[in-house]
Amino acid sequence: MSHDAENGQELMTGQLAIWNALQLEPVDPIFNIAEYLDIRGDLNVEVFVAALRRLLGECDSLHACFRSTGTEARQHWMPPDRLPVHVMDVTSAADPAAAAVEWMRTDMNRSLDVANGPLATHAVFRIAERRYFWYMCAHHLVGDGFSATVLVARLSHIYATLLAGDDPAESEDVLESSALLLEEDRRYRRSEDFQEDRRFWLDLLADCPRTATISGLPVRRARFLRRRHLVEVDRDQAARMRSSARRLRTSLAGLAITAGAACLHQITGADDLTFGIPVLGRANNRLRGIPGTTTNIVPVRSRLDPRATLADLVRATSGNVRASLKHQRYHQMDMLKDLHRVGSGPVFGTILNVMSFDYQVTFGDCTATAHNISSGPVDDVQISIYDRSTDAGFEIAVDVNPETYSAEAAEDIARRFLNALEQLTEAAPTEPVGRLQLLSEPERHQVLSEWNDTGVVVGDVSVLGLFGEVVGRDRGAVAVVCGDERVSYGELDVRASRLAGVLARRGVGPESVVGVVLERSVDLVVALLAVWKVGGVYVPVDVEVPAERVGWVVGDAGAVCVVSCRGLVGGLLGGVSVPVVCVDEVGAGVRAAGVGAGGVGVGPVGGVSVGWGGAAYVMYTSGSSGVPKGVVVSHGGLVNRLLWMQGRFGLGVDDVVLHKASVGFDVSLWELLWPLVVGARLVLARPGGHRDPVYLSGLIEGEGVTTVHFVPSMLGVFVEGGVVGGWGSLRRVVCSGEVLSGVLAERFVGLCGAELHNLYGPTETSVDSTAWVWPGSGLGGVSGGGSGSGSGVVPLIGGPIWNTRVFVLDGWLRPVAPGVVGELYIAGVGLARGYVGRAGLTGERFVACPFGGVGERMYRTGDLVRWVGGGELAFVGRADGQVKVR
Ligand code: AMP
Ligand code: MG
Repeated sequence: MSHDAENGQELMTGQLAIWNALQLEPVDPIFNIAEYLDIRGDLNVEVFVAALRRLLGECDSLHACFRSTGTEARQHWMPPDRLPVHVMDVTSAADPAAAAVEWMRTDMNRSLDVANGPLATHAVFRIAERRYFWYMCAHHLVGDGFSATVLVARLSHIYATLLAGDDPAESEDVLESSALLLEEDRRYRRSEDFQEDRRFWLDLLADCPRTATISGLPVRRARFLRRRHLVEVDRDQAARMRSSARRLRTSLAGLAITAGAACLHQITGADDLTFGIPVLGRANNRLRGIPGTTTNIVPVRSRLDPRATLADLVRATSGNVRASLKHQRYHQMDMLKDLHRVGSGPVFGTILNVMSFDYQVTFGDCTATAHNISSGPVDDVQISIYDRSTDAGFEIAVDVNPETYSAEAAEDIARRFLNALEQLTEAAPTEPVGRLQLLSEPERHQVLSEWNDTGVVVGDVSVLGLFGEVVGRDRGAVAVVCGDERVSYGELDVRASRLAGVLARRGVGPESVVGVVLERSVDLVVALLAVWKVGGVYVPVDVEVPAERVGWVVGDAGAVCVVSCRGLVGGLLGGVSVPVVCVDEVGAGVRAAGVGAGGVGVGPVGGVSVGWGGAAYVMYTSGSSGVPKGVVVSHGGLVNRLLWMQGRFGLGVDDVVLHKASVGFDVSLWELLWPLVVGARLVLARPGGHRDPVYLSGLIEGEGVTTVHFVPSMLGVFVEGGVVGGWGSLRRVVCSGEVLSGVLAERFVGLCGAELHNLYGPTETSVDSTAWVWPGSGLGGVSGGGSGSGSGVVPLIGGPIWNTRVFVLDGWLRPVAPGVVGELYIAGVGLARGYVGRAGLTGERFVACPFGGVGERMYRTGDLVRWVGGGELAFVGRADGQVKVR
């Protein structure tokens, strides 16, 4: 079998895949593969080079170059003597070995001329007395990693034969032509085996979930050389791993692949995923003796059974690998075609590669060890094990696509992989898979404790108590501005006490639920304070929701009475059969009776104390299920949230806070209460005004508002409208509720000198649980002119607020590593008391906290996040892909 020298020849499937990749983008030199052998002993360089020349003559695959005919690619052969063999003596260099490696790296970084060749380079370096390096580099089109081992073995033989004065051409080991590989490739593609393999892969991959990657990002075609992190496993440790592998009835390779799979499941959080394994793609020993590009990478599908033990996992992984290996000749490129995924990237992100070969090569009396420099492009992550001898240590190489992964990321992956391998080695085979822990002790401590070190003593204070102190300090100061109405702290207190008296006479007391159905008005503020003055629980109902919903909420919350006003009672509360107190009538009645300040009150200004654990308000949220649930929040959670905000932002008596959020949105609580507990001024937007950008903008300017909340989409409206630049009084903008985009944030800070904050938190954890500030915002300086200067800052949701702990966990409630996406769980004083009508913190979302004291609970948010930098969270999305609606 020989090549058609005249017309050239078509490409083998493995070559075609590389050729196609090269056509998409000229991505050389990443397809150069290279390694060198470190040879010790008295090498006869002259004979070695002669042997090498002979080897290059025999190995026809290396003579190829590749041209396109327009419709297809064909390979042609050039004279073998065009393949360069460099011989260099670097013994005079300061560090000869380093000088040689440097030369190799430079060589390997050259783009090779695919159309004209040569596509392989060899070099022999004299490093020292009795030490030589043999370097070989080839374009992946003409060789693969396995081919290199064939060349090494053959060269060893030729060298020994020449030394003995014999003719290597007469040996039985003369390399056969790569035409045989091509022939076999074509035969296979016409065979029944090919069809059977095709069916196997279609069946395995048809319902394969989205490709899970360690970064969480899509796989991206490599454009640059891989970035590598190496870890050595010493001889003792390797020996323990080997014996543990035997106990588990597998090999070091089996153990390593299982560790890799366990890592991937844990890091990606996917129970069902695929990883790739490089295979030889050669059917028999004869074909395995021929160098050429046949290698392929096949997917292995791994489905994790949560009840599995480590032994089960090892068994299952070995079985999955065996199944894929059986069909290894079917090329990845064909699978992608079958799955209609050409162009959308491979079905796997990570490649697990165990190279176990007894690499004890000799050249005459000289011994040699091999060192891999590069084995081609890595699109995502490749974890390789170079196991060259069964009684030595081994090397773990983590190669990553440098466009997706940093050097630290590669190091993290290596550490977690080694950690999994060690745990598989040490743990009992009956241990459940879920016990594997990829984080080191210091990392665990960091994510669980250090980044949650939020303990602050808030003291036994209440919102009413703090409000009372402000009233005591300055009764005359303006508390609330609503249109033309200006209400002082003293008057506000009197009006609240008066209404509280009425409520008390209606039997409202500690823990009684009171529905508040009022438009945005001073009376709304009065009602809220009044409910608390009698120890009641405030349930705000947005008057803009349909009447049935008003009735439903009032009923579901178990309200004993409703505070509303004459204008609304008829329309909205017609169908509600609970006593209604009309605030406007209370005011009129009391005024008529001539009752003065502090008149109809209940006890001290602070009102009835219900303690930190007592319910403060009920807020209805729909969750993602769409069924509204009343979340019962405690006074402690609310006070903690307000005082944290005060600690962080330091609101002063000269500050002006705008209230415009719907009362059905828990943001309204801090808007309404924060100014009142510190003696600042509260400005109310008129009813419906929150939807009117022109009105709001005028109000902000006219009233000198310093502090305002926006959901990002609303902020976007103002930024687009270009009005934010005119808000000279503004000191801080607080965003929450939705994802804050980098583009919007950057445009805002370019236009307005106010600080920009991003807060995050579910209703179930008392309004907000984490906070982040745009770095450098609020310095008063306007930068960039609002066009988005491209700082590249991505808004985060930040770290936990006071007395709050946040956990980023996988499906087994194990903390995930920094950078890894997991689900956010929240514990601490902000945790709601539960839902209306359900006893305690029950329900699927309030779960036992494995990191807290006995009986402690945490809230499962359903949000995906990851730790970035020093203890701050990045929001990734909803676990169910939906947006939580109120
Ligand atoms: P709610 O319970 O109505 O306050 O809604 C809370 C949900 O809104 C969270 O679970 C998130 O999905 C989303 N959310 C709140 N704040 C933010 C934020 N700053 N960034 C992204 N999503 C947020
Ligand atoms: Mg919230």
